[in-house]
Amino acid sequence: MKIIVCVKQVPDTSGNVAVKPDGTLDRSSMPAIINPDDLNAVEAALCMKEDTGAKVVVVTMGPPQAANMHHELLAMGADEVVLVSGREFSGSDTFATSQILAASIKRIGLEEGAVVFCGRQAIDGDTAQVGPQIAEKLNLPQVSYVQEVKREENALICKRMLEDGYMTIRLEPPCLLTCIKELNTPRYMSVRGILEFDKKPFTVFDYETLKEDELIEKDSIGIKGSPTNVFRSFTPPQKGAGIMIPGTGKEAAEQLFGILTQKHLV
Ligand SMILES: Cc1cc2nc3c(=O)[nH]c(=O)nc-3n(C[C@H](O)[C@H](O)[C@H](O)COP(=O)(O)OP(=O)(O)OC[C@H]3O[C@@H](n4cnc5c(N)ncnc54)[C@H](O)[C@@H]3O)c2cc1C
Repeated sequence: MKIIVCVKQVPDTSGNVAVKPDGTLDRSSMPAIINPDDLNAVEAALCMKEDTGAKVVVVTMGPPQAANMHHELLAMGADEVVLVSGREFSGSDTFATSQILAASIKRIGLEEGAVVFCGRQAIDGDTAQVGPQIAEKLNLPQVSYVQEVKREENALICKRMLEDGYMTIRLEPPCLLTCIKELNTPRYMSVRGILEFDKKPFTVFDYETLKEDELIEKDSIGIKGSPTNVFRSFTPPQKGAGIMIPGTGKEAAEQLFGILTQKHLV
């Protein structure tokens, strides 16, 4: 049985975010990291591996520089890495990205019982669309925002986070789950993993590898296959400092009411 994890390399947006004049992210000026939610997806896959003996395959679409991140994932315990890379794929929006990743997952092999894990959201694109789109394209049942997952015979029991609670959903693999940080705490690389990661398989899928798949047509991938148009992107202005209103609840409420009245807001 295979467990497939989609992992994206993203620019570290916790520091200064550089935007190019055309409004796109200047990725080259920011350090690259593993998308945080994807580490939770990898951890969930590794726990399932320990439980079932399944093999964990990481798949990434991106430039060859993603290899550094892959060493870390193999040292954590993943068994194999697939890098999907090629000129034909560049400029892909979420629709085209999910076409390419879905075709790659088919090629890796969606065996009986297979589970595909994704992060909920990438910190650069931030759409949370890719996981659900992959599931649709592969016709897989899916649960997004997974905060807990348990195996029960041939099924998975997932807690799906809601704003004010959770839903419990039972689904049978093959299926796709998108993971949130509440699901687990990602493990560190092991010493043995660091010493042995280069013995594990590392495969590159390019356009030639995937072109026979029905999802991969020249006008369904890359910039041509991307229906999204970004008109403008910008950094929102920082909020000004707030004010503290001292006093008891009643006094503070009265003062707040006075301030809002002065500003003609109430
Ligand atoms: C018109 C247009 C052109 C673009 N051109 C480029 C470009 O040239 N280069 C570029 O880097 N980006 C480009 N992007 C951004 C790119 O579309 C998104 O980064 C990508 O589709 C993923 O969307 P997201 O970041 O919102 O991921 P989300 O949907 O938020 O990600 C959810 C999960 O899906 C999985 N996932 C997402 N992306 C990948 C991936 N690449 N590999 C493996 N797993 C993944 C991860 O598990 C992730 O946690 C472009 C976007 C648009 C709209």
